[in-house]
Amino acid sequence: MTKTQHCLHCDTANGMVQFDSRTLDVEYKNLKRAVHRLSGWECQSCQEIVFDGDSANRHAEAGDQLIEDAQQAVAAKMKRVRKKIGFTQAVAVRLRSGGGHNAFSRSKRADAPPPQALIVLMSLLDRHPDPVEESTLR
Ligand SMILES: [Zn+2]
Repeated sequence: MTKTQHCLHCDTANGMVQFDSRTLDVEYKNLKRAVHRLSGWECQSCQEIVFDGDSANRHAEAGDQLIEDAQQAVAAKMKRVRKKIGFTQAVAVRLRSGGGHNAFSRSKRADAPPPQALIVLMSLLDRHPDPVEESTLR
């Protein structure tokens, strides 16, 4: 007999059905990663999923790892473009931070992703590196 539970999300009686050994994808931007052997409850009415403790932890960790991977990919791209167009790190830090006195140390911390406008700018410079002189940015 299938185990069921009341769904707290949509209030359907016996809406939650137990599952185990399921593989679900965690997605973030253009990255995707499968998490295997997940167990928990899924509502047949509203599709709400409640993971069991261990599955919830592994699913959350996979999501955190995906975000970290995405940020590292952005950081690697920024560094590659910076070198390609010949910017010094000091100029890159000023562009990134707006130029505060502790901008350098802040830029070293991985927990501060670059602003979207700078990512767009660096992507443009990656494709069209010619017109920028570093001296124009001082
Ligand atoms: Zn529900």
